[in-house]
Amino acid sequence: METEKIDCVFCSETAELKYETIELLDGKVVLKQQPYYKCKKCGKEFVTSRQMKETEKQINSFSVSRPIVSTGRSLAITIPTDLVKFYKLKKGENVQLIPESRHMLKVKFF
Ligand SMILES: [Zn+2]
Repeated sequence: METEKIDCVFCSETAELKYETIELLDGKVVLKQQPYYKCKKCGKEFVTSRQMKETEKQINSFSVSRPIVSTGRSLAITIPTDLVKFYKLKKGENVQLIPESRHMLKVKFF
């Protein structure tokens, strides 16, 4: 069971448990009733590491294919809008590329 109220990690006031259903990639991926906390005072939203693990379990089972495009002399892969929102990505932020094998390159967001 999730705890109904915990201390906000940003301002230490009370944050309440909420649920949301997240649809990604035009509804191909639906993450049902994802728990998260929203602070009553500062309005920030966050998840606990346990909640994150639950989401990861559901999210592991899909992938999306993207074309490689060129930007200047580099190559780039664009990220679909709903994944941008889901991972709260912003232009100019750094990501980490982690080579896993000859056929696998992981992208880590902070
Ligand atoms: Zn807060």
